[in-house]
Amino acid sequence: MEATIDFPEEDIEFLEEAQCRDRLRRVIEQLTLIEASANTGRILREGAMLVICGRPNVGKSSLLNALLKANRAIVTPIPGTTRDTIEELVNVRGLPLRLVDTAGLTATDDPIEREGVTRSRAAIQQADLLLIVFDRSAPFSQADRELLAEIRALRNGAAIPALLVLNKDDLGSQINTAEVTTAWGPAPVIAVSAVQGTGLETLETLISEQLLGGQVSISDGALVTNVRHQQALQRAIAACRAGLSSLERRTTIECLAVELREACEHLGGILGLNVSEDLLDRIFKQFCIGK
Ligand code: GDP
Repeated sequence: MEATIDFPEEDIEFLEEAQCRDRLRRVIEQLTLIEASANTGRILREGAMLVICGRPNVGKSSLLNALLKANRAIVTPIPGTTRDTIEELVNVRGLPLRLVDTAGLTATDDPIEREGVTRSRAAIQQADLLLIVFDRSAPFSQADRELLAEIRALRNGAAIPALLVLNKDDLGSQINTAEVTTAWGPAPVIAVSAVQGTGLETLETLISEQLLGGQVSISDGALVTNVRHQQALQRAIAACRAGLSSLERRTTIECLAVELREACEHLGGILGLNVSEDLLDRIFKQFCIGK
């Protein structure tokens, strides 16, 4: 394209429009796939934040301890955590997780408790995945519904990846799956007993599936682990999309070239290439211009 624009007298044949569109679509697809790996990259680099929430006494701390015990290989308490939210690092199925056990969500007069509530709310807002715990040995109640509404309000209605955990399964089952999913919305439901250790393996599988679900797997070649690279990819994708729409609107080849050049420059920023120089080199090589 650049060659056609820069050297009109050379009579260079431009790509067929349909071919150009197909190529551009393929590029967008591939860039999008790579960009999607950024979240996996971030999780592997920083650890995913897994926040355990639920009403008092449903077994949140017990669940945290059970997950720690099952994964005692890498357990490091994070300094600076307070008595109100407890945070531990743990490795589940190769994924580094920051497990956060929250205190209550309801404000009280006690200043220490209030701090706990603030921290719990912040943790829920930042979570990559929520484990919402219920005591399965008691009926699903209005208080459970209110808690779910409160959690949802904290995330401003944004889609929240969550696992609904029915704990104390060993004490009998008074809550069924439909009740919790009706109140919360679609999400995986899992019965466990934090005390007896049942259901934990399945819970771990669900945790890793939720965190990596649908994304480029760890073993795939490209993995974006750098925020700057992720942004460059997003900008390159946007520029390619703009190019595609220029093409569809049948604007001039110059307009299209501007978008594509911008995309190249963003990618060049990742690779450390000077795109303009590279482009001219290629034009000269490929089209034998200037002889
Ligand atoms: P939290 O307030 O939500 O952190 O709840 P805790 O983890 O402190 O647990 C509250 C009580 O429930 C404790 O007495 C636990 O031993 C008990 N508990 C927690 N999980 C289970 C479970 O799976 N089965 C049974 N039988 N008791 C449990």
